[in-house]
Amino acid sequence: TTHNFSDIEIAQAAKMEHIKDIAAKLDIKEDDIEMYGKYKAKLPLSLIDKKKIEQCNLVLVTALTPTPAGEGKTTTSIGLTEGLNKIGKKTTVVLREPSLGPVFGIKGGAAGGGYAQVVPMEDINLHFTGDFAAIEKANNLLSALIDNNIQSKTRSLGIDPRTVVWKRVMDMNDRALRQIVIGLGGTANGIPREDGFNITPASEVMAILCMAENFSDLKERLGNIFIGFTFDKQPVYAKDLKAENAMAILLKDAIKPNLVQTLEGNSAIIHGGPFANIAQGTNTIIATKMGMSLSDYVVTEAGFGADLGAEKFLDIKCVSSGLKPKAVVLVATIRALRHHGGAQKEEYNTASLKRVKDGFANLEKHIENIHKFGLNPVVAINAFPTDSDEEVEFVQKRCAELGVKAVVARGWAQGGEGMTDLAEAVVEEVESGKGHFKPLYEWNLSVKTKIEIIAKEIYGADGVEFSKKAITDLRTIESLKLNKLPVCMAKTQKSFSDNDALIGRPSNFVVNVREFEFAAGAGFLIPILGKMMRMPGLPATPASEGMNIDDSGKISGLS
Ligand code: ADP
Ligand code: MG
Repeated sequence: TTHNFSDIEIAQAAKMEHIKDIAAKLDIKEDDIEMYGKYKAKLPLSLIDKKKIEQCNLVLVTALTPTPAGEGKTTTSIGLTEGLNKIGKKTTVVLREPSLGPVFGIKGGAAGGGYAQVVPMEDINLHFTGDFAAIEKANNLLSALIDNNIQSKTRSLGIDPRTVVWKRVMDMNDRALRQIVIGLGGTANGIPREDGFNITPASEVMAILCMAENFSDLKERLGNIFIGFTFDKQPVYAKDLKAENAMAILLKDAIKPNLVQTLEGNSAIIHGGPFANIAQGTNTIIATKMGMSLSDYVVTEAGFGADLGAEKFLDIKCVSSGLKPKAVVLVATIRALRHHGGAQKEEYNTASLKRVKDGFANLEKHIENIHKFGLNPVVAINAFPTDSDEEVEFVQKRCAELGVKAVVARGWAQGGEGMTDLAEAVVEEVESGKGHFKPLYEWNLSVKTKIEIIAKEIYGADGVEFSKKAITDLRTIESLKLNKLPVCMAKTQKSFSDNDALIGRPSNFVVNVREFEFAAGAGFLIPILGKMMRMPGLPATPASEGMNIDDSGKISGLS
């Protein structure tokens, strides 16, 4: 069950169907789509249908605590969609848009892998339909309005430039822009102040677009963006600069979900892309609802491990939008289980029943956690050629003891053909009617309590410590009346704890909340555990070095 083709070779060999034919499979008329060439289209919001959403089965794909390579959630989501369609379930996969930072940096694109990909792969990974550019412009319009107001003599709000938390954004890994000074060059050129750039997926505008239900909601959230304080210590919001309507105009097309296709000609909707460590890490609510309005099953992904992506998906996105998943697929790899059992990187591909036995505790904790949301996960063992039968059988046996099915998933090597077993298991779980989603906490609990519930129940921590700065921030949150918002934890993806080094299922630890950020527009508070990066840097050997385009316009080296 393996092959030697690169992702881009497989994607380029695919015979794509015209996007109007993909739309037709969802009963959408050609007239109703806005085509971006032959293989991409925007879908109008009028196709969202409340009744159909209630009838559709939403399946969330998440994972155990990943190794840096990623354990294959996107690949499994796409493969499962092919598998479900193969067994006769009309299914759409709904995913995030890739960011150019990872594309040219370390991780590569985010369009799946092997025979489980979405296409056109080059377009999806490079600019796509321009949504990220629109988000960047909306974000930077607000930045320009802020500095223009600080400069103004007649219409000044009295913003204290030292308190401005709103940053400019760009979709590139560029560490040199993290901290900069702007407004140099004398009186005509602005008031000098410290500023910086974040990467576009870290923009609150991205988070807002992904939480918004429609244009009114979008504008209200944009208006609620917190900018900083005046010299009199009064909070300043985007609406104080009358920014929200103009920002929304810039998002007039970005708000519409993008339709593309899988390698096997099934529908894929790709829309929005916030990071999963500092934001909610999942595609737009509008895209999920669009997919659910058009099909019987929707498969979607939440970033990183289930302690991050799935918890936020379930406690923030689902509660905010009223969505209720019917099943959860927990992706595990034998490689990651070896890692959690103590294997070093060089040993990841060496079979070791002992390592897998020791590492199983990590998967077990994730299974227990999903149960806390009223759902019984199906484990997908994303197959690699280096998996041994005894390792796989061990995982299946242990899962069965926990009342969970563990199915070998071969989407990367075989496409939908290798995913029908997983598809059957997911349908069985959905049709059993046993899944009754409930969130982990109530939004109206105190901020401290909400964080403690997540830390104790999901991470397995003994408790939470709040730094002096965090306590001060809590008072600000209280005074801004933001305490009823849900919490969007910013934590390392490498461990259940806030310490990268604690693999497996750590115990006897407390987590430390260093400080808070508040996304008043997106509608969540961000407790920062450890150090979080909003503008990544490039590695010593960036992926960009291996890329090329020939005279016919054919691209190589994209992964
Ligand atoms: P995630 O969404 O969890 O971050 P991806 O699905 O993007 O993970 O996969 C990460 C990388 O691993 C991709 O480059 C993909 O091609 C590769 N990959 C995924 N599954 C397999 C597999 N079963 N065998 C080999 N490579 C795989
Ligand atoms: Mg992914």
